[in-house]
Amino acid sequence: MTSDLDLLLDGPAHELAAAVSARGFTARQVAEASLARAVKSRALHGSFLHVAPAAALAAADEVDRRVASGELMPLAGVPLAVKDNVNVAGLPSTAGSRILAGFVAADDATCVERLKAAGCVVVGKTSCDEFGMGSSNESSAFGPVRNPWDTSRVPGGSSGGSAAAVAALAVPLAIGTDTGGSVRQPASFCSLVGVKPTYGRVPRYGLLAYASSLDQAGPLARNVRDAALALAAMSGPDPRDATSLRSAPPELLGRIEAGAAGTRIGLLAEAEAPEGGLDSDVGAALETTARRLESAGATLVRVSVPRVSLAVAAYYILATAEASSNLARYDGVRYGARREGDGLSGLYRATRTAGFGPEVKRRILLGTFALSSGYREAWYERAQRVRALLAIDFADAFRSCDAILCPTAPEPAFGIGEKSADPLSMYLADVFTVPASLAGLPALSVPAGLSRDRLPIGMQLAGPAGSEPLLLALGREVERASGEWGRPPGAIR
Ligand code: GLN
Repeated sequence: MTSDLDLLLDGPAHELAAAVSARGFTARQVAEASLARAVKSRALHGSFLHVAPAAALAAADEVDRRVASGELMPLAGVPLAVKDNVNVAGLPSTAGSRILAGFVAADDATCVERLKAAGCVVVGKTSCDEFGMGSSNESSAFGPVRNPWDTSRVPGGSSGGSAAAVAALAVPLAIGTDTGGSVRQPASFCSLVGVKPTYGRVPRYGLLAYASSLDQAGPLARNVRDAALALAAMSGPDPRDATSLRSAPPELLGRIEAGAAGTRIGLLAEAEAPEGGLDSDVGAALETTARRLESAGATLVRVSVPRVSLAVAAYYILATAEASSNLARYDGVRYGARREGDGLSGLYRATRTAGFGPEVKRRILLGTFALSSGYREAWYERAQRVRALLAIDFADAFRSCDAILCPTAPEPAFGIGEKSADPLSMYLADVFTVPASLAGLPALSVPAGLSRDRLPIGMQLAGPAGSEPLLLALGREVERASGEWGRPPGAIR
Protein backbone atom coordinates (compact mmCIF):
# COMPACT_ATOMS: atom_id res chain seq x y z
CA MET A 1 0.00 0.00 0.00
CA THR A 2 1.18 3.49 -0.76
CA SER A 3 1.67 5.60 2.32
CA ASP A 4 1.77 9.38 2.53
CA LEU A 5 5.43 9.04 3.34
CA ASP A 6 5.99 7.12 0.10
CA LEU A 7 4.21 9.83 -1.85
CA LEU A 8 6.31 12.48 -0.15
CA LEU A 9 9.49 10.67 -1.12
CA ASP A 10 8.25 10.44 -4.72
CA GLY A 11 7.74 14.19 -4.85
CA PRO A 12 9.78 17.40 -4.79
CA ALA A 13 12.41 18.00 -2.13
CA HIS A 14 10.91 21.37 -1.22
CA GLU A 15 7.57 19.76 -0.33
CA LEU A 16 9.32 17.12 1.71
CA ALA A 17 11.23 19.82 3.60
CA ALA A 18 7.99 21.71 4.25
CA ALA A 19 6.39 18.55 5.65
CA VAL A 20 9.35 17.86 7.95
CA SER A 21 9.45 21.52 9.03
CA ALA A 22 5.71 21.39 9.83
CA ARG A 23 6.39 18.17 11.75
CA GLY A 24 4.10 16.11 9.54
CA PHE A 25 6.89 13.54 9.39
CA THR A 26 10.16 13.27 11.24
CA ALA A 27 13.42 13.38 9.37
CA ARG A 28 14.09 9.93 10.84
CA GLN A 29 10.95 8.47 9.22
CA VAL A 30 11.95 10.00 5.90
CA ALA A 31 15.53 8.73 6.23
CA GLU A 32 14.36 5.19 7.03
CA ALA A 33 12.13 5.13 3.95
CA SER A 34 14.85 6.58 1.73
CA LEU A 35 17.48 4.15 3.05
CA ALA A 36 15.21 1.22 2.19
CA ARG A 37 14.82 2.53 -1.35
CA ALA A 38 18.56 3.21 -1.63
CA VAL A 39 19.31 -0.42 -0.78
CA LYS A 40 16.88 -1.56 -3.50
CA SER A 41 18.28 0.86 -6.05
CA ARG A 42 21.81 -0.31 -5.25
CA ALA A 43 20.71 -3.88 -6.04
CA LEU A 44 18.67 -2.99 -9.14
CA HIS A 45 20.71 -0.19 -10.70
CA GLY A 46 24.10 -0.23 -8.98
CA SER A 47 23.48 3.42 -8.15
CA PHE A 48 25.00 3.40 -4.65
CA LEU A 49 28.45 2.15 -3.76
CA HIS A 50 27.82 2.70 -0.09
CA VAL A 51 24.55 3.12 1.83
CA ALA A 52 25.09 4.63 5.27
CA PRO A 53 22.18 3.82 7.61
CA ALA A 54 23.89 4.59 10.92
CA ALA A 55 25.22 7.97 9.81
CA ALA A 56 21.96 8.85 8.07
CA LEU A 57 19.76 8.05 11.08
CA ALA A 58 22.04 9.96 13.45
CA ALA A 59 21.95 12.94 11.07
CA ALA A 60 18.16 12.69 10.78
CA ASP A 61 17.78 12.74 14.56
CA GLU A 62 19.91 15.85 14.64
CA VAL A 63 17.65 17.50 12.03
CA ASP A 64 14.61 16.54 14.12
CA ARG A 65 16.19 18.22 17.16
CA ARG A 66 16.86 21.35 15.13
CA VAL A 67 13.28 21.39 13.83
CA ALA A 68 11.97 20.96 17.39
CA SER A 69 14.06 23.90 18.54
CA GLY A 70 12.44 26.09 15.89
CA GLU A 71 15.31 26.26 13.41
CA LEU A 72 14.19 26.86 9.84
CA MET A 73 16.02 24.86 7.17
CA PRO A 74 15.25 25.08 3.45
CA LEU A 75 16.00 21.36 2.92
CA ALA A 76 14.93 20.00 6.32
CA GLY A 77 15.17 16.21 6.33
CA VAL A 78 15.80 15.91 2.58
CA PRO A 79 17.69 12.66 1.85
CA LEU A 80 20.82 13.37 -0.18
CA ALA A 81 23.02 11.07 -2.26
CA VAL A 82 26.62 12.17 -2.75
CA LYS A 83 28.84 11.18 -5.66
CA ASP A 84 31.73 9.10 -4.45
CA ASN A 85 34.38 11.63 -5.50
CA VAL A 86 33.04 14.12 -2.94
CA ASN A 87 34.03 13.72 0.70
CA VAL A 88 31.52 13.06 3.45
CA ALA A 89 33.09 12.83 6.92
CA GLY A 90 33.27 9.26 8.18
CA LEU A 91 32.23 7.65 4.89
CA PRO A 92 34.43 6.04 2.24
CA SER A 93 35.45 8.01 -0.86
CA THR A 94 36.58 5.78 -3.69
CA ALA A 95 35.83 8.03 -6.68
CA GLY A 96 34.89 4.76 -8.38
CA SER A 97 38.50 3.57 -8.18
CA ARG A 98 40.19 0.57 -6.61
CA ILE A 99 43.16 2.73 -5.77
CA LEU A 100 41.20 4.37 -2.95
CA ALA A 101 40.12 1.12 -1.30
CA GLY A 102 39.90 1.62 2.44
CA PHE A 103 40.04 5.42 2.33
CA VAL A 104 37.59 7.14 4.69
CA ALA A 105 37.10 10.90 4.48
CA ALA A 106 38.17 12.88 7.53
CA ASP A 107 35.83 15.79 6.88
CA ASP A 108 33.00 17.06 4.71
CA ALA A 109 33.46 18.77 1.36
CA THR A 110 32.29 22.37 1.68
CA CYS A 111 29.23 21.70 -0.50
CA VAL A 112 28.27 18.72 1.67
CA GLU A 113 28.79 20.69 4.87
CA ARG A 114 26.52 23.42 3.51
CA LEU A 115 23.77 21.05 2.39
CA LYS A 116 23.85 19.40 5.81
CA ALA A 117 23.50 22.83 7.39
CA ALA A 118 20.47 23.39 5.13
CA GLY A 119 18.89 20.23 6.56
CA CYS A 120 19.97 17.46 4.16
CA VAL A 121 20.59 13.95 5.43
CA VAL A 122 23.27 12.00 3.53
CA VAL A 123 22.02 8.46 2.88
CA GLY A 124 24.97 7.20 0.86
CA LYS A 125 27.69 7.56 -1.73
CA THR A 126 26.99 6.96 -5.39
CA SER A 127 28.84 5.24 -8.19
CA CYS A 128 30.68 7.25 -10.81
CA ASP A 129 33.13 6.83 -13.64
CA GLU A 130 36.58 6.35 -12.14
CA PHE A 131 37.73 9.79 -10.95
CA GLY A 132 34.93 11.31 -13.05
CA MET A 133 36.49 10.13 -16.31
CA GLY A 134 33.68 9.05 -18.56
CA SER A 135 30.24 9.76 -19.96
CA SER A 136 28.49 6.48 -19.18
CA ASN A 137 29.50 5.35 -15.68
CA GLU A 138 31.06 2.28 -17.29
CA SER A 139 34.59 3.20 -16.20
CA SER A 140 33.66 2.71 -12.53
CA ALA A 141 35.77 -0.08 -11.04
CA PHE A 142 32.59 -1.35 -9.38
CA GLY A 143 30.46 -2.15 -12.39
CA PRO A 144 28.10 -0.18 -14.60
CA VAL A 145 25.02 1.70 -13.40
CA ARG A 146 21.66 1.02 -15.02
CA ASN A 147 19.35 3.79 -16.16
CA PRO A 148 15.96 3.51 -14.36
CA TRP A 149 14.26 4.58 -17.63
CA ASP A 150 15.68 1.53 -19.40
CA THR A 151 17.95 -0.77 -17.43
CA SER A 152 19.75 -1.97 -20.57
CA ARG A 153 21.08 1.57 -21.01
CA VAL A 154 23.62 3.78 -19.28
CA PRO A 155 22.49 6.58 -16.93
CA GLY A 156 25.15 8.87 -18.37
CA GLY A 157 28.28 9.86 -16.54
CA SER A 158 30.30 10.51 -14.78
CA SER A 159 27.68 11.24 -12.07
CA GLY A 160 25.63 8.22 -13.20
CA GLY A 161 24.96 6.78 -9.75
CA SER A 162 23.70 10.11 -8.43
CA ALA A 163 21.39 10.53 -11.42
CA ALA A 164 20.08 6.96 -11.22
CA ALA A 165 19.44 7.32 -7.48
CA VAL A 166 17.32 10.44 -8.02
CA ALA A 167 15.53 9.06 -11.10
CA ALA A 168 14.78 5.81 -9.24
CA LEU A 169 13.08 7.91 -6.52
CA ALA A 170 15.50 6.65 -3.85
CA VAL A 171 16.42 10.26 -2.97
CA PRO A 172 15.00 13.57 -4.19
CA LEU A 173 18.39 15.22 -4.47
CA ALA A 174 22.00 14.33 -5.21
CA ILE A 175 25.36 15.98 -5.58
CA GLY A 176 27.29 15.39 -8.78
CA THR A 177 30.47 16.90 -10.13
CA ASP A 178 30.85 18.32 -13.60
CA THR A 179 34.21 18.74 -15.30
CA GLY A 180 32.99 18.54 -18.88
CA GLY A 181 29.32 17.61 -18.50
CA SER A 182 29.10 15.04 -15.73
CA VAL A 183 26.13 16.65 -14.01
CA ARG A 184 24.29 17.86 -17.12
CA GLN A 185 24.57 14.77 -19.33
CA PRO A 186 23.34 12.26 -16.70
CA ALA A 187 20.54 14.72 -15.90
CA SER A 188 19.62 14.65 -19.58
CA PHE A 189 19.73 10.83 -19.76
CA CYS A 190 17.61 10.42 -16.61
CA SER A 191 15.04 13.24 -17.01
CA LEU A 192 16.45 15.39 -14.22
CA VAL A 193 17.50 18.97 -13.73
CA GLY A 194 21.27 19.35 -13.38
CA VAL A 195 23.26 22.53 -12.91
CA LYS A 196 26.93 23.18 -13.62
CA PRO A 197 27.58 26.50 -11.84
CA THR A 198 29.86 29.32 -12.95
CA TYR A 199 33.42 28.15 -12.25
CA GLY A 200 34.25 29.09 -8.64
CA ARG A 201 30.65 29.52 -7.50
CA VAL A 202 30.61 26.24 -5.54
CA PRO A 203 33.83 25.60 -3.63
CA ARG A 204 35.92 22.62 -4.66
CA TYR A 205 37.19 21.87 -1.16
CA GLY A 206 36.60 18.15 -0.50
CA LEU A 207 36.24 17.15 -4.16
CA LEU A 208 38.68 14.54 -5.41
CA ALA A 209 40.30 16.58 -8.16
CA TYR A 210 40.07 15.47 -11.78
CA ALA A 211 40.82 18.68 -13.72
CA SER A 212 41.00 21.51 -11.23
CA SER A 213 40.45 24.37 -13.67
CA LEU A 214 37.15 22.79 -14.77
CA ASP A 215 35.72 20.82 -11.81
CA GLN A 216 32.51 22.12 -10.26
CA ALA A 217 30.01 20.36 -8.01
CA GLY A 218 26.34 20.81 -8.82
CA PRO A 219 22.90 19.50 -7.88
CA LEU A 220 20.86 16.79 -9.59
CA ALA A 221 17.17 17.22 -8.82
CA ARG A 222 13.73 16.30 -10.13
CA ASN A 223 12.66 19.89 -10.73
CA VAL A 224 14.14 23.35 -11.18
CA ARG A 225 13.06 24.72 -7.79
CA ASP A 226 14.81 21.90 -5.92
CA ALA A 227 17.94 22.40 -7.99
CA ALA A 228 17.87 26.13 -7.16
CA LEU A 229 17.41 25.48 -3.44
CA ALA A 230 20.33 23.08 -3.40
CA LEU A 231 22.55 25.33 -5.50
CA ALA A 232 21.77 28.29 -3.25
CA ALA A 233 22.88 26.26 -0.25
CA MET A 234 26.08 25.06 -1.95
CA SER A 235 27.23 28.41 -3.37
CA GLY A 236 29.45 31.08 -1.87
CA PRO A 237 33.05 31.93 -1.09
CA ASP A 238 35.23 29.51 0.86
CA PRO A 239 38.64 30.33 2.32
CA ARG A 240 39.63 26.67 1.78
CA ASP A 241 39.34 27.01 -2.02
CA ALA A 242 41.53 29.71 -3.53
CA THR A 243 39.55 29.51 -6.79
CA SER A 244 36.15 30.07 -5.18
CA LEU A 245 34.57 33.36 -6.21
CA ARG A 246 34.92 36.05 -3.55
CA SER A 247 31.65 37.78 -4.36
CA ALA A 248 28.38 36.79 -2.71
CA PRO A 249 26.29 34.52 -4.96
CA PRO A 250 23.25 35.99 -6.70
CA GLU A 251 19.81 35.34 -5.27
CA LEU A 252 18.58 32.19 -7.05
CA LEU A 253 14.99 31.70 -5.98
CA GLY A 254 13.64 35.24 -6.33
CA ARG A 255 13.13 35.29 -10.09
CA ILE A 256 12.58 31.62 -10.70
CA GLU A 257 8.97 32.17 -11.83
CA ALA A 258 9.88 35.24 -13.92
CA GLY A 259 9.43 33.36 -17.20
CA ALA A 260 11.14 33.96 -20.51
CA ALA A 261 9.35 37.12 -21.66
CA GLY A 262 11.76 39.72 -23.01
CA THR A 263 14.76 37.38 -23.10
CA ARG A 264 16.85 36.68 -26.20
CA ILE A 265 17.56 33.00 -26.68
CA GLY A 266 20.50 32.08 -28.88
CA LEU A 267 20.20 29.00 -31.08
CA LEU A 268 23.64 27.61 -31.64
CA ALA A 269 24.53 27.24 -35.31
CA GLU A 270 27.19 24.65 -34.43
CA ALA A 271 24.52 22.45 -32.81
CA GLU A 272 22.79 21.82 -36.12
CA ALA A 273 25.27 19.27 -37.42
CA PRO A 274 27.78 18.36 -34.72
CA GLU A 275 30.67 16.02 -35.43
CA GLY A 276 29.27 12.59 -34.63
CA GLY A 277 25.72 13.53 -35.68
CA LEU A 278 22.50 14.59 -33.98
CA ASP A 279 19.69 12.17 -33.16
CA SER A 280 16.48 13.18 -34.96
CA ASP A 281 14.33 13.01 -31.81
CA VAL A 282 16.82 15.27 -30.04
CA GLY A 283 16.69 17.68 -32.98
CA ALA A 284 12.88 17.71 -32.81
CA ALA A 285 12.94 18.33 -29.04
CA LEU A 286 15.28 21.28 -29.57
CA GLU A 287 12.86 22.74 -32.09
CA THR A 288 9.88 22.27 -29.76
CA THR A 289 11.72 23.78 -26.80
CA ALA A 290 12.74 26.82 -28.83
CA ARG A 291 9.11 27.34 -29.95
CA ARG A 292 7.90 27.00 -26.36
CA LEU A 293 10.30 29.68 -25.19
CA GLU A 294 9.21 31.86 -28.09
CA SER A 295 5.54 31.39 -27.13
CA ALA A 296 6.48 32.44 -23.61
CA GLY A 297 7.74 35.76 -24.98
CA ALA A 298 11.39 35.09 -25.77
CA THR A 299 13.03 36.22 -29.01
CA LEU A 300 14.97 33.54 -30.87
CA VAL A 301 18.24 34.56 -32.49
CA ARG A 302 20.76 32.44 -34.35
CA VAL A 303 24.24 32.66 -32.82
CA SER A 304 27.57 31.15 -33.69
CA VAL A 305 30.35 30.11 -31.32
CA PRO A 306 32.81 28.93 -33.98
CA ARG A 307 35.40 27.39 -31.65
CA VAL A 308 32.76 24.96 -30.31
CA SER A 309 33.97 22.66 -33.07
CA LEU A 310 37.41 22.53 -31.42
CA ALA A 311 36.13 22.20 -27.86
CA VAL A 312 36.15 18.40 -27.53
CA ALA A 313 39.72 18.19 -28.80
CA ALA A 314 40.91 21.01 -26.52
CA TYR A 315 39.02 19.64 -23.54
CA TYR A 316 40.51 16.16 -23.81
CA ILE A 317 44.01 17.63 -23.87
CA LEU A 318 43.53 20.07 -21.01
CA ALA A 319 41.48 17.76 -18.78
CA THR A 320 43.90 14.86 -19.22
CA ALA A 321 46.92 17.13 -18.68
CA GLU A 322 45.49 18.32 -15.38
CA ALA A 323 44.46 14.78 -14.44
CA SER A 324 47.95 13.44 -15.07
CA SER A 325 49.21 15.89 -12.48
CA ASN A 326 46.32 15.56 -9.99
CA LEU A 327 46.42 11.78 -9.99
CA ALA A 328 50.15 11.66 -9.24
CA ARG A 329 49.23 11.75 -5.54
CA TYR A 330 47.84 8.20 -5.64
CA ASP A 331 51.04 6.31 -5.13
CA GLY A 332 50.29 3.91 -2.29
CA VAL A 333 52.10 6.00 0.30
CA ARG A 334 49.35 8.03 1.88
CA TYR A 335 45.97 7.03 0.48
CA GLY A 336 44.04 3.86 -0.08
CA ALA A 337 45.36 0.68 -1.64
CA ARG A 338 49.07 -0.13 -1.46
CA ARG A 339 50.96 -2.81 -3.36
CA GLU A 340 54.51 -3.48 -2.36
CA GLY A 341 57.12 -3.54 -5.09
CA ASP A 342 60.85 -3.38 -5.46
CA GLY A 343 61.92 -0.13 -3.76
CA LEU A 344 60.02 3.17 -3.92
CA SER A 345 59.41 3.21 -7.67
CA GLY A 346 58.40 -0.44 -7.47
CA LEU A 347 55.79 0.51 -4.86
CA TYR A 348 54.47 3.26 -7.13
CA ARG A 349 54.42 1.01 -10.15
CA ALA A 350 52.70 -1.90 -8.42
CA THR A 351 50.13 0.31 -6.68
CA ARG A 352 49.22 2.33 -9.76
CA THR A 353 49.22 -0.65 -12.12
CA ALA A 354 46.77 -2.54 -9.91
CA GLY A 355 44.80 0.47 -8.67
CA PHE A 356 43.88 2.42 -11.81
CA GLY A 357 41.50 1.17 -14.48
CA PRO A 358 42.16 1.34 -18.25
CA GLU A 359 40.40 4.67 -18.90
CA VAL A 360 42.32 6.42 -16.13
CA LYS A 361 45.59 4.98 -17.42
CA ARG A 362 44.76 6.10 -20.96
CA ARG A 363 44.15 9.63 -19.71
CA ILE A 364 47.27 9.81 -17.57
CA LEU A 365 49.25 8.75 -20.63
CA LEU A 366 47.49 11.25 -22.90
CA GLY A 367 47.93 14.07 -20.40
CA THR A 368 51.56 13.28 -19.66
CA PHE A 369 52.26 13.20 -23.39
CA ALA A 370 50.52 16.55 -23.96
CA LEU A 371 52.70 18.12 -21.26
CA SER A 372 55.96 16.48 -22.15
CA SER A 373 58.98 18.36 -23.36
CA GLY A 374 58.82 18.95 -27.10
CA TYR A 375 55.07 18.32 -27.30
CA ARG A 376 53.81 20.75 -24.71
CA GLU A 377 53.66 23.65 -27.12
CA ALA A 378 52.02 21.66 -29.90
CA TRP A 379 49.32 20.20 -27.65
CA TYR A 380 48.82 21.71 -24.22
CA GLU A 381 49.59 25.31 -25.11
CA ARG A 382 47.62 25.16 -28.33
CA ALA A 383 44.62 23.80 -26.44
CA GLN A 384 44.95 26.65 -23.94
CA ARG A 385 44.79 29.11 -26.83
CA VAL A 386 41.63 27.43 -28.12
CA ARG A 387 40.18 27.73 -24.62
CA ALA A 388 40.88 31.47 -24.53
CA LEU A 389 39.43 31.97 -28.02
CA LEU A 390 36.34 29.98 -27.13
CA ALA A 391 35.69 32.29 -24.18
CA ILE A 392 35.94 35.25 -26.57
CA ASP A 393 33.51 33.56 -28.98
CA PHE A 394 31.01 33.15 -26.15
CA ALA A 395 31.43 36.77 -25.06
CA ASP A 396 30.68 37.82 -28.65
CA ALA A 397 27.61 35.57 -28.80
CA PHE A 398 26.28 37.00 -25.54
CA ARG A 399 26.17 40.42 -27.13
CA SER A 400 23.20 39.27 -29.20
CA CYS A 401 21.54 36.86 -26.75
CA ASP A 402 21.06 36.34 -23.01
CA ALA A 403 21.40 32.56 -23.01
CA ILE A 404 22.19 29.81 -25.51
CA LEU A 405 19.88 26.87 -26.01
CA CYS A 406 21.15 23.57 -27.40
CA PRO A 407 20.70 19.89 -26.62
CA THR A 408 22.63 18.64 -23.59
CA ALA A 409 23.71 15.53 -25.48
CA PRO A 410 23.50 14.61 -29.18
CA GLU A 411 21.45 11.49 -28.44
CA PRO A 412 19.43 9.90 -25.64
CA ALA A 413 20.92 7.27 -23.31
CA PHE A 414 22.86 4.64 -25.24
CA GLY A 415 23.12 0.95 -24.45
CA ILE A 416 25.51 -0.45 -21.86
CA GLY A 417 28.58 -1.62 -23.78
CA GLU A 418 27.63 0.25 -26.96
CA LYS A 419 30.45 2.80 -26.87
CA SER A 420 32.83 1.37 -24.32
CA ALA A 421 35.18 -0.08 -26.94
CA ASP A 422 35.41 3.23 -28.81
CA PRO A 423 36.74 6.07 -26.63
CA LEU A 424 36.49 8.61 -29.46
CA SER A 425 32.75 8.13 -29.95
CA MET A 426 32.34 8.41 -26.16
CA TYR A 427 34.34 11.67 -26.12
CA LEU A 428 32.27 13.09 -28.99
CA ALA A 429 29.13 12.61 -26.91
CA ASP A 430 30.41 15.55 -24.81
CA VAL A 431 30.28 17.97 -27.75
CA PHE A 432 27.60 20.22 -26.23
CA THR A 433 28.70 20.19 -22.61
CA VAL A 434 32.45 20.82 -22.73
CA PRO A 435 32.29 24.32 -24.29
CA ALA A 436 30.65 25.93 -21.24
CA SER A 437 33.11 24.07 -18.99
CA LEU A 438 36.14 25.39 -20.87
CA ALA A 439 34.75 28.93 -20.71
CA GLY A 440 33.82 28.62 -17.01
CA LEU A 441 30.18 29.43 -17.77
CA PRO A 442 27.10 28.23 -15.91
CA ALA A 443 24.84 25.78 -17.73
CA LEU A 444 21.77 23.83 -16.82
CA SER A 445 20.11 20.74 -18.26
CA VAL A 446 16.35 20.51 -18.06
CA PRO A 447 14.05 17.68 -19.21
CA ALA A 448 12.39 18.52 -22.51
CA GLY A 449 10.58 15.37 -23.52
CA LEU A 450 10.93 11.71 -24.35
CA SER A 451 12.16 10.07 -27.52
CA ARG A 452 10.08 7.60 -29.55
CA ASP A 453 11.69 4.89 -27.41
CA ARG A 454 10.52 6.72 -24.26
CA LEU A 455 14.01 7.82 -23.32
CA PRO A 456 14.54 11.22 -21.69
CA ILE A 457 15.89 14.14 -23.71
CA GLY A 458 17.45 17.12 -21.95
CA MET A 459 18.03 20.65 -23.21
CA GLN A 460 20.93 22.78 -22.10
CA LEU A 461 20.79 26.48 -21.34
CA ALA A 462 24.14 28.22 -20.96
CA GLY A 463 24.71 31.86 -20.05
CA PRO A 464 27.40 34.36 -19.12
CA ALA A 465 29.24 34.01 -15.80
CA GLY A 466 26.85 34.65 -12.92
CA SER A 467 23.69 34.12 -14.97
CA GLU A 468 22.38 31.22 -12.86
CA PRO A 469 19.21 33.15 -11.85
CA LEU A 470 18.28 33.67 -15.52
CA LEU A 471 19.12 30.06 -16.46
CA LEU A 472 16.95 28.75 -13.63
CA ALA A 473 14.04 30.99 -14.70
CA LEU A 474 14.36 29.82 -18.31
CA GLY A 475 14.69 26.22 -17.17
CA ARG A 476 11.55 26.67 -15.10
CA GLU A 477 9.76 27.98 -18.17
CA VAL A 478 10.81 24.91 -20.18
CA GLU A 479 9.75 22.68 -17.31
CA ARG A 480 6.36 24.39 -17.02
CA ALA A 481 5.72 24.23 -20.77
CA SER A 482 6.93 20.65 -21.23
CA GLY A 483 4.79 19.20 -18.47
CA GLU A 484 5.32 15.91 -16.68
CA TRP A 485 7.05 12.87 -18.11
CA GLY A 486 5.84 10.39 -15.56
CA ARG A 487 7.84 7.91 -13.54
CA PRO A 488 10.63 5.89 -14.99
CA PRO A 489 9.65 2.22 -15.34
CA GLY A 490 12.54 1.32 -13.03
CA ALA A 491 11.49 3.58 -10.15
CA ILE A 492 11.60 1.94 -6.74
CA ARG A 493 8.30 1.02 -5.05
N1 GLN B 1 32.84 12.94 -20.11
C1 GLN B 1 33.78 13.94 -19.74
C2 GLN B 1 35.10 13.30 -19.38
O1 GLN B 1 35.16 12.13 -19.44
C3 GLN B 1 33.27 14.77 -18.60
C4 GLN B 1 33.39 14.09 -17.31
C5 GLN B 1 33.11 14.97 -16.15
O2 GLN B 1 32.48 16.02 -16.31
N2 GLN B 1 33.61 14.59 -14.98
O3 GLN B 1 36.04 13.92 -19.08
